[in-house]
Amino acid sequence: MQHKILVVEDEADVIDMLSINLRAAGFNVVTVSDGAAALARIRSEAPSLIILDLMLPQMSGLEICKVLKSDIATRHIPVIMLTAKAEEVDKIVGLELGADDYVTKPFSPRELVLRVNRSLRRGKDKVPSVEKLVIGQLTLDHARHEVLVKNQLVELTATEFKLLALLMDRRGRVQGRDRLLNDVWGYESVIDTRTVDTHVRRLREKLGSLASYIETVRGVGYRIGDGEPG
Ligand code: CA
Repeated sequence: MQHKILVVEDEADVIDMLSINLRAAGFNVVTVSDGAAALARIRSEAPSLIILDLMLPQMSGLEICKVLKSDIATRHIPVIMLTAKAEEVDKIVGLELGADDYVTKPFSPRELVLRVNRSLRRGKDKVPSVEKLVIGQLTLDHARHEVLVKNQLVELTATEFKLLALLMDRRGRVQGRDRLLNDVWGYESVIDTRTVDTHVRRLREKLGSLASYIETVRGVGYRIGDGEPG
């Protein structure tokens, strides 16, 4: 299988250099030059790896990385950050935010291809869906695709499962309706934000005695709390 690499970079000569060398190494290459385009393409292209420049217009590489690593749909995709010499500190911050590796500019194409192959190999050893989320008496098991309420199995639709997984994964943080709509139903979605409310209502019904775990934050959206529900 030919791996697809998404390159997020705004400098034309670096894009050319990366594209030529990655294609020569047998990769399928997609390039974008800003954060918004990057986030949209990551969803539509499902790349095997992302090469992300730190200094980009509008949204920085760090911000993009943070979004990717906080989303269960994209967090498994390895990210290699491109940084400039003067950005030592940012480099470390980048790794804390979940970048898998970094390369300092100027870099040799050979070195970069080596890093790409290494990250892809490492990614293959990772089993992305063994993750089990437990909050109070609510358990969500990605590997088994199961939800347990007080140890009782609950049947959820694929959308309800995804919605619950996002809320549990981002516990303690309010998720706006628009954000949920984007992350659960996808960027291209034309459906109304009231759809989110409908699904949350059904999800609560299925959670039964744990329904209150999903809190409504008036005018904003929904949240699952950190500890015991109120
Ligand atoms: Ca740049």
